Amino acid sequence: MKLSDCDRNDGKLLTEDEALAILLAEAVAINDIEELATGCVLGRILAHNLIAPINVPAFDNSAMDGYAVNSPDIAASGESCLPISQRIAAGHPGTPLTPGTAARIFTGAPLPPGADTVVMQEHCRAIHGKVCLNGPLKAGTHVRPAGEDIRQGSQVLAAGIRMRPQEMGLAASLGIAMLPVFRKLRVAILVTGDELQTPGEPPEPGKIYDSNRYLLSGLLASLGCQLIDTDTVPDHYDATVEALSEAATAADLILSSGGVSVGEEDHVKTAIEHLGQLALWRIAVKPGKPLAYGDIGGTPVMGLPGNPVSLLITFCLFARPLILRLQGRSRLTPTVIRARAAFERRNPIPRREYLRARMIRGEDGGTTITTHPRQGSAVLSAACWADCLAIVPADSSISPGAPIDIIPFSELLF
Ligand code: AMP
Ligand code: MG
Repeated sequence: MKLSDCDRNDGKLLTEDEALAILLAEAVAINDIEELATGCVLGRILAHNLIAPINVPAFDNSAMDGYAVNSPDIAASGESCLPISQRIAAGHPGTPLTPGTAARIFTGAPLPPGADTVVMQEHCRAIHGKVCLNGPLKAGTHVRPAGEDIRQGSQVLAAGIRMRPQEMGLAASLGIAMLPVFRKLRVAILVTGDELQTPGEPPEPGKIYDSNRYLLSGLLASLGCQLIDTDTVPDHYDATVEALSEAATAADLILSSGGVSVGEEDHVKTAIEHLGQLALWRIAVKPGKPLAYGDIGGTPVMGLPGNPVSLLITFCLFARPLILRLQGRSRLTPTVIRARAAFERRNPIPRREYLRARMIRGEDGGTTITTHPRQGSAVLSAACWADCLAIVPADSSISPGAPIDIIPFSELLF
């Protein structure tokens, strides 16, 4: 027997896809909607489709500083000179263009009725109240027609998107002052472990500082959740039951850290089974095999492993899509990118492996991937060094130059 075969005696491990299917099967988006000012919706999830109440731009306007003319007034060849009959700046509608004249016009200013084209000032000569330019002119040049960006009545944003700065700007361009968004998801974090100390306290023998509370609070903040912080739970069955049942009444989702494996001090799984039901436990990923999921009185609970890197990765793979679904988001999966390995890795076990890795721009302009030398599930410094996770399929090996799928952290932490 090879040592690597030890991992085959795990009993039934769910694949990542099976686990995700179970997680998402019953997860329903919170249906509480609030109206927020357009300036306050960054990172929030749009609750209704947005239909354009107006055209954008609302009127034909100039894309350049120059002169507005009626194109037939310009000779097809040679120079034409037209008197300048008015001056139109942005925000100040002019008057209908007198036939046979030009209007001085600036970027964003309304095109006067009777004009169909703008000539850049760099292509004109202005002398003695006249502007001279060479034909031919193509009608419509440098004019931004009404409705070019958005047509009145069209759907501009779909329910379920996360509002980014560009969507905020777009809503504002339509004159929309308030937007319907889902309320923030309330997520309770329940950190377990007798060994944990709070940063700021003097170090005690045998204790470690709690990093997962901070890791989780950052992850949840980056996903736009409202955190319900609870006291650290000792490694004690009754205390775990009490903390879980309390959190279940206050939160939309409970995430716990640690105590989810098979040790005698691991009580999260049995406490979930006692208070509600367990829907899955243990998944064929590395790191992060022990992961429990179930519900307590209808409140979903996910027990994440205690090792900080395992917690980070299982959060990204399993808690994140669940949270996104509960938040009402339409897109749950991150973009996976195909790159080229600059490393060697054997993964002879039936678990998909996620390596802490870095993207490097290769000489040919493609992306090559290097991995951190220490891939232990407690080595948080490797996760800080990394900007992506490199995926090594189960029962496989990767050689330098081989194609490899990666997920940038930038795809996971929002
Ligand atoms: P557990 O899943 O509780 O068996 O913990 C696995 C490992 O992760 C142990 O070495 C724990 O000390 C460590 N660990 C658990 N919780 C935390 C935490 N909040 N911060 C840092 N390390 C932790
Ligand atoms: Mg523990």
